[in-house]
Amino acid sequence: MNYKRSMAENKFILPDGNVLISFSGGRTSGFMLHKILEANGDLPDRAKVVFANTGREMPQTLDFVQECSDRWNVPITWLEYTQHKPKFEIVSHNAASRNGEPFEQAIRKKASDRFLPNQAIRYCTQEMKVLTIKRYLVRNGWKKWFNTVGIRKDESHRIKPSKDKRWENWFPLAAAEMTVHDVNKFWSNNEFDLQVMKGAGNCDGCFLKSEAQLAAMWREHPDRMQWWSDLEIRIGSTFHKGRSYKELGDFVEKQGSFIFDDEAYLCQQNFGECTG
Ligand code: SF4
Repeated sequence: MNYKRSMAENKFILPDGNVLISFSGGRTSGFMLHKILEANGDLPDRAKVVFANTGREMPQTLDFVQECSDRWNVPITWLEYTQHKPKFEIVSHNAASRNGEPFEQAIRKKASDRFLPNQAIRYCTQEMKVLTIKRYLVRNGWKKWFNTVGIRKDESHRIKPSKDKRWENWFPLAAAEMTVHDVNKFWSNNEFDLQVMKGAGNCDGCFLKSEAQLAAMWREHPDRMQWWSDLEIRIGSTFHKGRSYKELGDFVEKQGSFIFDDEAYLCQQNFGECTG
């Protein structure tokens, strides 16, 4: 095989210029990171791998991010949203928030209007991931960059051009025609994996998850779901129109979660991840 040609055809070769690799802490973006490392070797300074912690990831997700960094010898910058300037904080596996602190700060301003994020207005993703990472990169002197997004071919309907003039989106997984099967195959043969149940990735009680998934989370992790319910009660509003986390939790407690259909997840569809 012609070496030069095969390298040119490798969709994971970094584009020219600065490249942000957003690592969501899920299997798909972990797989993407591995493919990028495989294609490029050690990353140059112009490429940064960033994980934006919301404080609502499962502890196993935080461990997974750290394990990818350690085992693959790739530096990952951990960021968290904070209300105070410069509106981001660099943390680490040990220092990362574990009880929704960045999330609470992100909604604080809008909470006075009883406005929680919802399916139509995901300001949580925008504030805690998209803008937090942007502020960090701009502070580091970046003016323009490629934003690497872990969207696969089987979820290509989620592919969108960037709305921000500073960056252009890059979708190497979709370009390489990688699907959920490739992701599953990789992790089933890998020596470590993300240790969370299906649908528990990203924010544990994310309002984009299906009713069935949230019911399963109430059954398996009632302590973690209580945070979402308490937040709704405190703010006096709900993440879903006409349904509260408390109602769902009460229902699961009385009836069990088996009556819910195992419908596809939105944010989590087929292991899809919150990519902003
Ligand atoms: S996973 Fe859900 S709750 Fe968390 S930032 Fe993304 S959209 Fe918001």
